[in-house]
Amino acid sequence: MILTQMIYASKIREGLKDRDIEHILEKSRVHNTRDEITGILCFHRKFFVQALEGERSHVNQTFKRISLDKRHSDVIIISYRQIDIRSFSKWSMAYVPECHITKDLLLKYSVKSTFNPYILSDTSAIGLLTEMSDRLLTKSRSAAA
Ligand code: FAD
Repeated sequence: MILTQMIYASKIREGLKDRDIEHILEKSRVHNTRDEITGILCFHRKFFVQALEGERSHVNQTFKRISLDKRHSDVIIISYRQIDIRSFSKWSMAYVPECHITKDLLLKYSVKSTFNPYILSDTSAIGLLTEMSDRLLTKSRSAAA
């Protein structure tokens, strides 16, 4: 098995509602659990950024479906690499809503405090997504305590 991680960005279709995002997440979690895909999906005003990781053919098939989805456009691959360990093993698909993407995070990983994943380097993208995942885990642990 070749463990693979990919990160892409895309533009959200105008008029997409919270309900649409919920549907995407529901479907993603069902498929990703079946295919042993883990990852994180981040939504910020105009853009999606998503990391997918798992067996290479599963990641490729999932991305193929996603790239044809009319709910977003202008899909660009930021990073595609083989990995030894997963970065998002806790999540079939973690979701980071806009309010979690804070100015401090953006300034740490990009040149501007406004979010534009099309100008993120692969290292910044993985840094940003990993830190968001860590923050989500801390939040869910303190909520459970
Ligand atoms: P169905 O859900 O039955 O859909 C059939 C077709 O209709 C598909 O082409 C689908 O794209 C399209 N469709 C469904 N609902 C709508 C709608 N409301 N508006 C327009 N077209 C619609 N899928 C995963 O499996 N894993 C993921 O991690 C994942 N992440 C995603 C991230 C983003 C940003 C987006 C936009 C989609 C994501 N999806 C993900 C969904 C993926 O693109 C496919 O829609 C889904 O995998 C197809 O599921 P299905 O074969 O059961 O088809």
